[in-house]
Amino acid sequence: MLSVHGLTKTYPGGVVGLRPTDLTVARGERLVLLGPSGSGKSTLLRLIQGLESADGGEVWVDGRRVDGLPPHRRGVALLPQRVALYPHLTVAGNLAAGRERERPEDSKSPVAHAPGSPEELFRLTPLLSRYPHQLSGGERQRVALAKLLRLNRPLWLLDEPFSGLDPMFRAEFRHDLLLFAASAGATILLVTHDPIDALAIGQRIGVLADGILRQVGTADELRSAPGHRFVAFCVGSHSLLDGAVQVAGDGDPPVFVAEGGSVRVPVPRSASCGTELTLGLRPDDLVQRAPGDPSYGTITGWPLVSAEPDGSGWLLTVARGRTRVRVEWRSGPPPPVGTLTDWTIPAARGTWFDRATGERIQVTSSK
Ligand code: ADP
Ligand code: MG
Repeated sequence: MLSVHGLTKTYPGGVVGLRPTDLTVARGERLVLLGPSGSGKSTLLRLIQGLESADGGEVWVDGRRVDGLPPHRRGVALLPQRVALYPHLTVAGNLAAGRERERPEDSKSPVAHAPGSPEELFRLTPLLSRYPHQLSGGERQRVALAKLLRLNRPLWLLDEPFSGLDPMFRAEFRHDLLLFAASAGATILLVTHDPIDALAIGQRIGVLADGILRQVGTADELRSAPGHRFVAFCVGSHSLLDGAVQVAGDGDPPVFVAEGGSVRVPVPRSASCGTELTLGLRPDDLVQRAPGDPSYGTITGWPLVSAEPDGSGWLLTVARGRTRVRVEWRSGPPPPVGTLTDWTIPAARGTWFDRATGERIQVTSSK
């Protein structure tokens, strides 16, 4: 449904909006791009919609090349990050204005008619006679979304659609959106800074940082094989430890050392002294200290700073300075906050990244 090749944008003054980006979204798929503020999410959506002119690249929608076409002829409906409603029109008037602008030939493959109108689905009936200034942020967002859905375009671009919403209603609204999208057979490209939204909505997730699309995959793929430290941090709940390889003396195997020596993890003999690495640890990569196996890594003497219940046990956070490591705890009540804790990292656990580039590298633990 959507295919983007080498799409790129630099703003005046040399500010990078988006590095050359390739992306495809299958018909009926929901792809969510996750990235912090300033990572290029809105830029990408605005380039696809044609509200911003690209420096290069192609945009294909439903088999047509559309990057030379004006926004309304691209077969795309964009919910902008800052929703604009006509201030002098009621909700009913705003919804109708959206519909009048639409011309049937704009949409080559209109989506199937959904059961229940967007107004019903988004509970707008009681709001129809109100003006935009009489609506809450969440209500305005619901009106804008309903207006967008009435455009009947096959591809929806949603820019942080949940950001104005009360946390109490977020989950409910996400659910409404999923139901409506499924019944309309729509294809969705949604961008957000919230991993919870990304995991709830995305069949695949892409991670965007500094205008670079780092990785696209299912949540499981990103969690189990993050290609970049940022992906590991955002989606994989990895704790990240920066350190370097040290060789203690002649014949001693090299060890990755971090946090003043309180983290020590054996690395292969081929690792050269001084190599700077980042170790990514998932909460289940660590176990309580067991009698020494020299192939195991260790974290020694880190104070427990918090313990949160996580359904089947506890999620502990241990810290040293500003570095935090999250650990799964499944063996009864956790120790009191402030306790100094020791952990082991079984061989072959953990994910390694190049400290300079953040890219994943293969460092298999030596036996
Ligand atoms: P996001 O939506 O992920 O927060 P944006 O796409 O809005 O990120 O912005 C990406 C980068 O481009 C940021 O550094 C931002 O400051 C810059 N930027 C966005 N819009 C403009 C603009 N109209 N003029 C100049 N710089 C812009
Ligand atoms: Mg944005």
